[in-house]
Amino acid sequence: MKTGIITTNTYLKHDTGQGHPERADRVTVVIKHLKRLKSKNLVWKKAKKFNPKYLLLAHDKDYLNDVKNSFPKQGLNFLNGDTILSPGSKEATSDAVGSIITAIDGVMKKDFRNAFCAVRPPGHHAEKKKAMGFCVYNNIAVGAYYLLEKYNLSKVAIIDFDVHHGNGTQDIFYNNEKVLYISSHQYPYYPGSGAANEKGIKDNVLNIPLVAGTKSHEFLNAYDSIFKKLKEFKPEFILLSSGFDAHKDDPLAQIDLESKDFYTLTKRIMSLAEELCKAKIVSILEGGYDLDALKESVDFHVKSLME
Ligand SMILES: [Zn+2]
Repeated sequence: MKTGIITTNTYLKHDTGQGHPERADRVTVVIKHLKRLKSKNLVWKKAKKFNPKYLLLAHDKDYLNDVKNSFPKQGLNFLNGDTILSPGSKEATSDAVGSIITAIDGVMKKDFRNAFCAVRPPGHHAEKKKAMGFCVYNNIAVGAYYLLEKYNLSKVAIIDFDVHHGNGTQDIFYNNEKVLYISSHQYPYYPGSGAANEKGIKDNVLNIPLVAGTKSHEFLNAYDSIFKKLKEFKPEFILLSSGFDAHKDDPLAQIDLESKDFYTLTKRIMSLAEELCKAKIVSILEGGYDLDALKESVDFHVKSLME
């Protein structure tokens, strides 16, 4: 089965400064590795340009103007303590959003069955009116709105298995029952949100908080309630906020997954997607900060998507 890999070179020019964990090497190791697979089942596509009106669905107009005026001509500009813009960030942030739009179009046109977007910066911490946690535009939120607007879908599910709670995605869809937002994450932890009692306007948010030190089997068992919720919701499309920082080697959190757990997890999501939405899945890279762990985990994730 064919899997689209959507990427761009512009991520290289999003410079976050020396020693920043969200660095260009992350995507470079992933792309190099996937290229080395030389698989006929991988369809490589560049992120395309998109109509900026879709950004406005997920973000506040004033916020978008602020961001637009914040790309520096030279040097670095701090949107906050950890979210940094360089001159090349304008194209990189735009292409990260463009990648999920390209991926969705490819799945809808049946160019490939599903897709993985290998891009940066990540997006799930970006709120409607606020940059946060390395994230400028909420890539996956724009993707979900794109499905609702362009393809007239009425039920889109987002599963966020990044080790951090996707406060931004939750913020954007908290009052929108067309989107089910599900997140498993270390808790209590950065960014602070993601308690089990944050449920959205119509139970359209499901948070699965996990204590530090959670092991593979506990993590995977926690997905039973997620799958139950998905079956009740019956999504027409599933988007994945694929952060690989719940890996045991990740320096930014303390959940103890092995690389192969991302295969098992993806496989289980795939079989549900087959049952619920003709296997329509688009996955986009969020976190993952140990380069070896990230490379291996993405390998398992994408191999599962290809099967
Ligand atoms: Zn993360």
